[in-house]
Amino acid sequence: MLRDDIPGFPELGELEVLRHFTRLSHLNYAIESQFYPLGSCTMKYNPKINEVVARLPGFSLLHPLAPAELIQGALELLHGLEAMLAEISGMDRVTLQPAAGAQGELTGLMVIRACLKERGNPRRKIIVPDTAHGTNPASSTLCGYDVVQIPSNNRGMVEAGKVEEVMDEEVAALMLTNPNTLGIFEKNIQAVADVVHKKGGMVYLDGANLNALMGIAKPGDMGVDVLHINLHKTFSTPHGGGGPGAGPVGVKGFLEDYLPVPRIAKSNGNFRLQEDLPKSVGRVRSFFGNFGILVRAYTYIISLGGDGLEETSRMALLNANYLRKKLEGAYHLPYPEPCMHECVFTDRLQHKEGVTTLDIAKRLLDYGFHPPTIYFPLVASGALMIEPTETESRETLDAFAEAMGAIAREAKENPALVKSAPHTTPVGRLDEARAARKPVLRWEPTKKAES
Ligand SMILES: *Cc1c(COP(=O)(O)O)cnc(C)c1O
Repeated sequence: MLRDDIPGFPELGELEVLRHFTRLSHLNYAIESQFYPLGSCTMKYNPKINEVVARLPGFSLLHPLAPAELIQGALELLHGLEAMLAEISGMDRVTLQPAAGAQGELTGLMVIRACLKERGNPRRKIIVPDTAHGTNPASSTLCGYDVVQIPSNNRGMVEAGKVEEVMDEEVAALMLTNPNTLGIFEKNIQAVADVVHKKGGMVYLDGANLNALMGIAKPGDMGVDVLHINLHKTFSTPHGGGGPGAGPVGVKGFLEDYLPVPRIAKSNGNFRLQEDLPKSVGRVRSFFGNFGILVRAYTYIISLGGDGLEETSRMALLNANYLRKKLEGAYHLPYPEPCMHECVFTDRLQHKEGVTTLDIAKRLLDYGFHPPTIYFPLVASGALMIEPTETESRETLDAFAEAMGAIAREAKENPALVKSAPHTTPVGRLDEARAARKPVLRWEPTKKAES
């Protein structure tokens, strides 16, 4: 039975294998190595104190089925985070359960539906502006509603008149994003909310862009009935690659009874879990949501404080407007007014040389930068959506602006160079649709030549 060879026995030592994977890991792009101006995603730096706190054994080793008496500290943290998010957003009650912004949207719409149903008619439609994130119509559909799209005006804003045209007693809610995905503040939000409320509808705020508003303005003061917040964007928890995240939902008092269970209640100084709420939409996530993410967001808020959060938003606005002014000569700005936390350019000036947004994004890789979000929002044709966030220094913003400027010059002088980029990355331009549908996950040495 003794063999000379063991089939398939690894031919490399531990060190070689380690070096191979360490080298591969360095090919990952991360906020901790480079600038990540991916619009709409708020790729800010995540302070290390968040990680230290999330790893405290009392949090990291907690069993999710432990009885409430044994997890008072964790429940206090969740209760406190709910209260802080309610204060920041101007809402009355918050649930931390949803595990992403999109799940927050669905949860919020379920809450609206449950309330309207109890009033006698869950209604049929949701109004969504053309600047909305794709998850808004998707969540509406998933919740059983038809989507009615309305156009924004030439300044990128929703007008009350346009809402009035489609608003009727079959509209359950309007979903608005503020600031919207063009990085523009919806100045008419109060008038829009009045139109919706007059016909018995509700206003849902997509609060994914809260990084622009903290300590400056509260959605709860703008006629909003329900909102979700993306902790993994605004409150600095690591994200990318699909999670984990957290999309807490805030509501005005009249909707509190419909929030998911369990709710965390406090009585006589003790925290307990309330399950017996008959109007609740039920559970939307196992246990308490993504608990580790909630600990990080709590830590972030506590360590910055109210003043720190306000400064965060002001710096996010300043950085975005700095890039807007720096790049406005080189790239077309479809909505030239001052932006909030992000700004949207297009490829119109490069188009006559045949250079597109995709080419510009690929060329940025050669300059060592992660490209901005491209071709979104859809209202700006060939969009380049840049969100620097507050955590970047002026030097980094200048270096990025310089690279973008250089690419604009190359597009004029040597368009072929931009069109064939990237040139310096381990792989060149991929067939992205095929790469997503038919990923090659196994390296087969015998097929080396072929691949
Ligand atoms: C990111 C985002 C969402 C969706 O949030 P996820 O956490 O990715 O599900 C919804 N709306 C807007 C405006 C966003 O930027």
